Amino acid sequence: MFSAIPSLAQQKFYLDLNDRGNDIFTVTLLPQKLSEENRIYQFASTAPGTYERMDLGRFVRSFQAYDKDGNEIETKQESLNQWSISQPENVEKIIYEIEDTWDTPVDSDYVYRMGGSNIEDDNVLINGHCLFGYFHGMQSEPILVKIDYPDDWLAGTALKLNDDGYYEAETYDHIVDSPILLGNLTRESTTVSETKVDVFTYSKTGLIKSSDILGLIEDILKAEDDFTKGLPVDDYTFLFHFQDVSHGAWEHSYSSEYIYKEDSLTERLKQSIRETVAHEFFHIVTPLNIHSELVEKFNFEKPVMSQHLWLYEGVTEWASHILILRDSITTLEDYLNDLHRKIMYSDNFPDSISLTYLGVNAVDLHDQYINIYMKGAVVAALLDIRLLDLSNGERGLRDVINELSHKYGPKKPFNEKTFFGDFTAMTYPEIADFFNRYVKGTEPLPLKEYYEKIGINYVKEGGYDSSQISLGIQVGFDGENFIIAKVDDESPYSDILKAGDIIDKVDGEKLSMANVQKIFSQISKTHKIGDKIEMTVLRDDEPIDLELTLIARKNNHIFSVNENATEKEIELRNAWMRNL
Ligand SMILES: [Zn+2]
Repeated sequence: MFSAIPSLAQQKFYLDLNDRGNDIFTVTLLPQKLSEENRIYQFASTAPGTYERMDLGRFVRSFQAYDKDGNEIETKQESLNQWSISQPENVEKIIYEIEDTWDTPVDSDYVYRMGGSNIEDDNVLINGHCLFGYFHGMQSEPILVKIDYPDDWLAGTALKLNDDGYYEAETYDHIVDSPILLGNLTRESTTVSETKVDVFTYSKTGLIKSSDILGLIEDILKAEDDFTKGLPVDDYTFLFHFQDVSHGAWEHSYSSEYIYKEDSLTERLKQSIRETVAHEFFHIVTPLNIHSELVEKFNFEKPVMSQHLWLYEGVTEWASHILILRDSITTLEDYLNDLHRKIMYSDNFPDSISLTYLGVNAVDLHDQYINIYMKGAVVAALLDIRLLDLSNGERGLRDVINELSHKYGPKKPFNEKTFFGDFTAMTYPEIADFFNRYVKGTEPLPLKEYYEKIGINYVKEGGYDSSQISLGIQVGFDGENFIIAKVDDESPYSDILKAGDIIDKVDGEKLSMANVQKIFSQISKTHKIGDKIEMTVLRDDEPIDLELTLIARKNNHIFSVNENATEKEIELRNAWMRNL
């Protein structure tokens, strides 16, 4: 009897980063053996967890295939992201040039920096999908990547190097899930329980070092460890990039990357880094260990989104705040203030979109997407209270999430369709009703009723706060422009401004990602109620110049501790405030 070990095709990529001119990467690919079914080379249309159109084919500048004698084989761009190869079985080598996404102008769908690529004199960021594609039929096969770079550089990534100096990825999904940051970096390492944690930092002028970052986040990593009763990964890599603009962060299974404007570590920047790390790091629980089959093997050609975004992002955002409360890193008052802010923010969005609908349509609902971090987190908080209530304070959402994390795992997806039922079967029949009403449905959230159970008062309409200025409008970002998301009924401008108007200029300054925070925080520091600001909005491409008077801000959704709570309510609150 013979037993054969299947020999998987290996695709080897080479990059030479010693040549870093013109914001272009030259990628050399040795595909080993191709056949007719592999004739399409596919670049990604998007990447998991980004919910944005990327269409990396837009950045490809040349694409050539060669046989073993160095003769060129005919190739053709079939569509935005696909190149076909006329005789795939004869291909020995493919060479293509692909521009970096950070510095290459595009008309629309700019790729957020944390999900993009950058090649500069002193640093390089590689997100797998920005450089590498895959042959149809080979998405699940291993990839090896060799990178030549200057001797004095460091390379930070969760990928492992093999003995021959190649980074090894098990699949195309794995390489996309494993960014690589190289350059003049600093590095710092620690161990949290059993997990080895590395921090790599690029800071344009050397202002911020990995040791600063690690000092800033170590208590959060410990709180995560307490919350998950042992972290579910052996290694984890943080990649920080400080340069000229803040874009945010992107999570991966064994790493995460953070794009910030370089600045001294002010309290505000520290707070932002801590909150962002608490969120991104929790993704090692979900989606890494709790995800559906749609996440397990992502469709890079025509993405199909999971309805369980409420879990991946909503529960994660909830966890990132409750776990620091439960480790006494934050106070109950701060926790409740954050809850208040989330619900205030969530008021900007229409009530008619359910969390499951938002999940499935996340790419098209780009301007609604951020609500998953707001309403999604609030719904998770309510689910926690509901579970604690039903179990008499013995089993909350943390406990169920930890059970799910053990039941499933990185390579064992849950069933996209039956998950609500499976979750309900693990808990209480009443949870089906909760999912129907607040996750799949759009019923008003039972904030007063639920928070009362843990001795916390909730007031929906809190009157006006004369210490805060406002225009009675909610501002949103649609991926390209700052827009008026909603005009409050009470706003003096409800007849003048319309939802959908693009805010072009404020006090003569053109609004951009780079200056929006500065402009609005400047106004809130220097202006008072009754003062005027100038604003230019674009409606149907026509500019409208306005002079607007600032009013007092409405202050809704106020939480406070009920000093007259019953013993039972206090008992449940105590259970809620700690890791059981
Ligand atoms: Zn997230």
